[in-house]
Amino acid sequence: LHPGHRRPIRDLPDELVSQIAAGEVVERPASVVRELVDNALDAGASQVTVRLLAGGVRLVSVEDDGGGIPRDELPIALRRHATSKIASLEDLEAVGTMGFRGEALAAIASVSELALLSRCAGQPNAFRLDARTGELQPAARAGGTTVEVKELFFSTPARRKFLKTDATELAHCIEAVRRHALARPEVGFAIWHEGKLVEQWRPASRDQRLADVLGDDFVEGSVAVEYAAGPIRITGRAGVPDAARSRPDHQFAYVNGRYVRDKVLTHAARSAYEDVLHGQRQPVYALYVEIDPARVDVNVHPTKIEVRFRDSREVHQAVRRAVEAALAAPRSAQQADMPA
Ligand code: ADP
Ligand code: MG
Repeated sequence: LHPGHRRPIRDLPDELVSQIAAGEVVERPASVVRELVDNALDAGASQVTVRLLAGGVRLVSVEDDGGGIPRDELPIALRRHATSKIASLEDLEAVGTMGFRGEALAAIASVSELALLSRCAGQPNAFRLDARTGELQPAARAGGTTVEVKELFFSTPARRKFLKTDATELAHCIEAVRRHALARPEVGFAIWHEGKLVEQWRPASRDQRLADVLGDDFVEGSVAVEYAAGPIRITGRAGVPDAARSRPDHQFAYVNGRYVRDKVLTHAARSAYEDVLHGQRQPVYALYVEIDPARVDVNVHPTKIEVRFRDSREVHQAVRRAVEAALAAPRSAQQADMPA
């Protein structure tokens, strides 16, 4: 329709609303991986298995051993703005789960062929719901949930055209799992592509997980961060100046267990290196910020990769000091809890 030619105002059909929402949340297979692994972790999974075909374009399947979804709630899980995670504004302000918008499954289902297979603890069997047909049937499965997403963007060819090669999409999917794996070392993760195991991280201590995911070099070339100031606690590891890289690909920041890309945190970490790193050298770090949830707003971006701090100066100062203090401590006082 051209500007100037007006139609009456109408509510958009539900399906279209979800497809519009999907535009924000589901950019590529890795976005599906991120959302489904978030859900698995929110369900208390101790093992998460990701299976991919064609870089995730043909299939993303995420299998967990978490609490499962009761049969009668399976259709509700697919509805827009339907969630078990918050029920009020108060809940939202203190949210401790990865999810809360109740949007991901509906959005993904609107641009793919999605099926939910789940079995709750105490249920005699599992149930499978096909999102497209609405068919709900008994199925076989141990406790937990599998979400299968096939043929991503099959109905939205314009989106499909933006996808890169399978290898590139696979790399993004692996990166999405890696971000979760670094946040939750006590959870085991496995990634399969085209029937081959491509990554496996067993439950471990945090330093061991950092070594497993980022390499022994990361842990050997970094010092422990341990800092507390008022309502903020910062832990993790900061690379020594010599470990800096040409690209910022080993910079991980978490806020209350959520991976974020935040200007305040990035700038604060970088500023701790201002006297020791020059030019374009990029420090490496994995920093875990814990802060009273009331002091950070996670509801600023559909993918929640950006957050807003109530007092960003306070956070900036804490991160900078945490890293500076770690870098200044004598190396001998630094012991990673790695097996000898
Ligand atoms: P949100 O995570 O924001 O609640 P989603 O659309 O991602 O929204 O999921 C909707 C609901 O479906 C969740 O609130 C949860 O109750 C249920 N759910 C989704 N995935 C799982 C899972 N892997 N295990 C258990 N419950 C799940
Ligand atoms: Mg979710």
